[in-house]
Amino acid sequence: MTRVLVVEDDPQLVRALIINLQARQYGVDAAPDGATALRLAAARQPDVVLLDLGLPDMDGVEVIEALRGWTRVPIMVLSARQASEEKVAALDAGADDYITKPFSMDELLARLRAAVRRTEDIALAPETTLVETDAFTIDLLAKTAVRDGHDVRLTPTEWHLLEILVTNPGRLITQKHLLQEVWGVTQGNKTNYLRVYMAQLRRKLETDPAHPRYLITEPGMGYRFEG
Ligand code: CA
Repeated sequence: MTRVLVVEDDPQLVRALIINLQARQYGVDAAPDGATALRLAAARQPDVVLLDLGLPDMDGVEVIEALRGWTRVPIMVLSARQASEEKVAALDAGADDYITKPFSMDELLARLRAAVRRTEDIALAPETTLVETDAFTIDLLAKTAVRDGHDVRLTPTEWHLLEILVTNPGRLITQKHLLQEVWGVTQGNKTNYLRVYMAQLRRKLETDPAHPRYLITEPGMGYRFEG
């Protein structure tokens, strides 16, 4: 059974989540505050955490940081906060995904399944080096990319960027993280680098670069590879 830890102080939302998750055979624990969440996460070892940012005792970002000290469990943030800086702060602290309230239960459940699937994929296939889509195939070990039967030449920078995205399928990777990893810059004002290189990657790999299917922009936040 997949275990979900719901960290939320709104009792109505907690009730709705418990009903919907249990109806789909998830095991559910609920914590109304950050301290309870950290205790339950250690005691129950959930497979995924749904986390509200506005908690009565601590900020959700602190909960993420505390969890990331010892676990890679997928963390999906549920928050009414709209500002992209807040989302980016949660993602940079180690959250895997972010859903803005109000959300549809169907969307939440779909993203939850995706988050759980990602960890299962990693657990089942530690040796996987091939990333295949309908448009292109990436061999991470051989460092080759093939599209329509032809090798695609990528520069080392393009490759580095692509590698980070495709090894985190479905996960939103922040601009700051990519800039740090690929260019070693910490200031966030170099986002034009990212725009330029992402456009190049799309030209080389996407069937319709103007309407990318695989290399997705999350405006103001970062990028996501949809495998
Ligand atoms: Ca709240």
